[in-house]
Amino acid sequence: MTIKRRIAKEVKIGNVTIGGKNPVAIQSMTKVPTKNYREVINQIQRLQKCGCAIVRVAVLDEEDAHAIREIKNAIRIPIVADIHFNWKLAVCAIKAGADKIRLNPGNIYKKNEVKEIVNLAREYAIPLRVGLNSGSIPKIFRYNAKLRPPLKLVRAALDYIKILEDLHFTDIVVSLKCSNVLDTLEAYQLIAKKCDYPLHLGLTATGYSEVGKIKSAIALGVLLSQGIGDTMRVSLTDEPEEEVKVAKYILSSLCLAGDSPEIISCPACGRTEVDIEKIVNELQSKLSAFSLQPSAKPVKLAVMGCVVNGPGEAEDADLAIAFGKNEGLLYKNAKPLKKVPIARAVDELIKEWEKACQKK
Ligand code: SF4
Repeated sequence: MTIKRRIAKEVKIGNVTIGGKNPVAIQSMTKVPTKNYREVINQIQRLQKCGCAIVRVAVLDEEDAHAIREIKNAIRIPIVADIHFNWKLAVCAIKAGADKIRLNPGNIYKKNEVKEIVNLAREYAIPLRVGLNSGSIPKIFRYNAKLRPPLKLVRAALDYIKILEDLHFTDIVVSLKCSNVLDTLEAYQLIAKKCDYPLHLGLTATGYSEVGKIKSAIALGVLLSQGIGDTMRVSLTDEPEEEVKVAKYILSSLCLAGDSPEIISCPACGRTEVDIEKIVNELQSKLSAFSLQPSAKPVKLAVMGCVVNGPGEAEDADLAIAFGKNEGLLYKNAKPLKKVPIARAVDELIKEWEKACQKK
């Protein structure tokens, strides 16, 4: 099965373009006050290293907004200012160099205020995200008993989009985040049919990290498999790098991660004679250090615990290794390539993977 992506309008956020046929851009958000810019820079540099394409920072006051200038000088990915309640902070953030502004229609909605932001965003050529959240839906929709939560979000988003379009502003990204998986699915599926703006996928308030990862994998995975989504943030009560890691796993599971490899491994059983978990962990951690370019066909790597079932189970992988007692048999396109000692197995697999990537 191949995914037929919804082709959204292209929107440029700094040096990253989303929408159209561009890869789904992974986002995260820093988790310290933005005014503590040295800490923020440190966090963003770690995020850059692990594959984050866009970062968002919370702007609570003018000091936070001004810090964007310092931060931008030290990072290479676009920065988004997250603004609530006070429209003037959006103005400060744009002037400080923010590459995009997230506005919450639930708390910045007065037309004259939105107009000020739009005028400046147009002047600085930056997009605005209409960032709806189930916890702060505009009152006019929040208390409408006739509307179920996903419909409230969609109606509120369309209402806000209309305000922007009436101002002849179309550099728009939309998000409709709920904490509930089914509501999130419905909201995004509906908005995807109602407009052609790029969609920022995400859930909000996902709870315990492990549960949040599963909820995100289900909600974002289903939407992406339906071709919906141009950028994504996996919101976790965890380190920001963890958010990026999970986003990458979701994308690579759906073959949407470019050259990012998909690792398949057997669960191990009584036949296993090597420590599969240790080998897979080593492989994953070494591969995470590579910075990859998007390409048409990702490489699938299989790590199997025995030579009885391993080769058969790994047949649809580009590269596979099946372990015996003292060595592994390396397969390329389902054909045996060579025997490798267990201690060299991960490095040999990576060497072949690099060759496979270069050929594409
Ligand atoms: S590949 Fe071999 S070791 Fe792994 S689960 Fe299957 S039978 Fe067991």
